[in-house]
Amino acid sequence: MTFRAVRADKTDAAQSVRFADMEDADLMDGDVTIRVTHSTVNYKDGLALSGKSPVIRRFPMVLGVDLAGVVETSSRADFAPGDEVVLTGHGLGETHFGGYAEKARVNGDWLVKLPAGLTRAEAMAIGTAGFTAMLALIAIERAGLTPSSGPALVTGAAGGVGSTAVSLLAGKGWTVIASTGRAAETGYLKSLGAAEVIDRATLTGPGRPLGKERWAAAIDSVGSTTLANVLAQTHYGGAVAACGLAGGMDLPATVAPFILRGVSLIGIESVHCPSARRLDAWRRLASDLDRAKLAAMTETIPLAQIFDAGARIVKGETRGRLVVTIP
Ligand code: NDP
Repeated sequence: MTFRAVRADKTDAAQSVRFADMEDADLMDGDVTIRVTHSTVNYKDGLALSGKSPVIRRFPMVLGVDLAGVVETSSRADFAPGDEVVLTGHGLGETHFGGYAEKARVNGDWLVKLPAGLTRAEAMAIGTAGFTAMLALIAIERAGLTPSSGPALVTGAAGGVGSTAVSLLAGKGWTVIASTGRAAETGYLKSLGAAEVIDRATLTGPGRPLGKERWAAAIDSVGSTTLANVLAQTHYGGAVAACGLAGGMDLPATVAPFILRGVSLIGIESVHCPSARRLDAWRRLASDLDRAKLAAMTETIPLAQIFDAGARIVKGETRGRLVVTIP
């Protein structure tokens, strides 16, 4: 039996990404085989789909960093045919065949059983981006901060990580300040729970080592000068969770916020997140994330539109999350 997949190949110096027909025998090693029903488009997927980014670390590669589906066969005691499962990260689409295919074979250690109360489509509406937003919220809570500490800032707010972060923080009672470059998304961000929407241009210019204290916590998916300015305007004793680099990989900051205000900068990494923390984050997502808001931030596309979607996310033209239905 053949199945469709979005595959990257490399010959000499040239890289190509296209639809390909594959067979079960082509699948990589693993102890659980899954019929994939849904995947997503994250920023990293957009880069990989462009065929120009170093995201893919072995060839050929089936793209797609997330998947949800139903177990077809399993040689493990903890997964049986018919089980609904979710998989984000773990090198999917980078070093191991990913979610843009009708079938996947993976290491069962990477799988999470679909959390009670979530559908497979909802789990993919969350995907790596939403999972990362939850890891960031948990990190802020672990730093001892609560809604009574002061407002929370979210940068890249209209994106996937950002939209989920706004919704999660607001749901937990935080006063959320959303930073966006798209003023037209103000109504959307307020519908997700933002109390205030600010222009991202106010954070992208070179700033001072310390500024007025404006927020107690922040979830940043932008990096670079934005992250430096976010740190400089964080309250005494506050914490900033750094998730992304949509604005750049550099960090032109000073140590002033750390040594003069005791601000913490916390790194968020979702791909190799240990299992216990992963299960806890999914449990929190299933219980805390408002489903109506999740639906409002999600656009669903068929796999056939994947290349267009990848180009849009890299250009910053998508809003919230993109779910991909796999035929
Ligand atoms: P999206 O493209 O959905 O969102 C990114 C948002 O960042 C955009 O919507 C835009 O928001 C803002 N943005 C884009 N370009 C710029 C720019 N040049 N300057 C300032 N802001 C910009 O991506 P995701 O939400 O999927 O991912 C966000 C980031 O997080 C990416 O860098 C991604 O690689 C990273 N990431 C990291 C993970 C981890 O494990 N640490 C996991 C998942 C993602 P707006 O229009 O509102 O301004």
